Amino acid sequence: MTRIFSGIKPTGHLTLGNYLGAIRQWAEVDQHRAESLFSIVDLHALTVDHDPGRVRRLSRQAATLLLASGIDPGLATVFVQSHVDEHARLSYLLECVATDGEMRRMIQYKEKSARERARGGSVRLSLLTYPALMAADILAYGTDEVPVGDDQTQHVELTRDLAVRFNQRYGQTFVVPRATPPKVAARVMDLQDPTSKMGKSHEAGGSIVYLLDEPEVVRKKILRAVTDSGSEVVYDRAARPGVSNLLEILAACRGGNPEALSGAYESYGALKSDTADAVVELLRPVQERHKELMAEPAYVEEVLRRGAEQARAMAKPTVDGAYRAIGL
Ligand code: ADP
Repeated sequence: MTRIFSGIKPTGHLTLGNYLGAIRQWAEVDQHRAESLFSIVDLHALTVDHDPGRVRRLSRQAATLLLASGIDPGLATVFVQSHVDEHARLSYLLECVATDGEMRRMIQYKEKSARERARGGSVRLSLLTYPALMAADILAYGTDEVPVGDDQTQHVELTRDLAVRFNQRYGQTFVVPRATPPKVAARVMDLQDPTSKMGKSHEAGGSIVYLLDEPEVVRKKILRAVTDSGSEVVYDRAARPGVSNLLEILAACRGGNPEALSGAYESYGALKSDTADAVVELLRPVQERHKELMAEPAYVEEVLRRGAEQARAMAKPTVDGAYRAIGL
């Protein structure tokens, strides 16, 4: 059976980008067709400035939201990365097959380290080696497919390179995985700066729709979204990034394709209003279920405990095998 692994970082509140680019596909499609593991990758949250208590709180919140989004612990394994030692154990071996040059080429490293330096801060070494840990997350489970948004495909490519290199050097050990981004909304853009992605770690909350935003807040943010000069509603990502982003969000919520939808609108105002309604409708059931689950924290803890146990049992043979293959 196909095996799927994907993760989400507890670095902030989950966004509409996380939902449309990843979680929805995990819940609606992936867990039903493949053996799936979904991890709250908390070790990755330590690569940037963080507050320890907050990482823990956000991990529980992310787990609750995954369950509220329809991920069924009877079908998929949901767990917290740091509960399974195999990730860190394997990451070190992969750092020993990777080169610093290939790590430095990663777009996310370049962007995040530049931002950190611009703020006068220092860059943690783990931000550079992040892709080795991500590769370990994936390879430890013999993963075939990694459903991630567009922003992560470069890291999955590197994971493939490391798997192939390790196999060539030390003998067949890892399955070589591939990224499977969603067909629509693989890159939801920021509402105020539609040339950069809607990311939960950005600070300007007004430009990001969070999964737990109240309906009025969602409406306000979408109605205030930056649109492009001109007034015609056309789908053109390069020339009209703002309007195209709204069309993509609307298409992802309601089905259909953004280009076809553009014909139905004569003004930006009508498009924004319909997009806001569609997002509110999309989030409503997730928010309702989240409220119910918030009353059952012991249930969420139990799901995570069992998830870690299952994940450990799957990862250990592969990671032990990698140590043996290297001759340790
Ligand atoms: P973030 O950038 O929000 O910290 P994560 O690294 O936790 O995201 O990613 C969780 C999943 O959500 C990944 O599969 C990622 O590709 C996807 N994702 C994150 N932001 C977006 C976005 N703006 N559009 C589409 N998918 C996204």
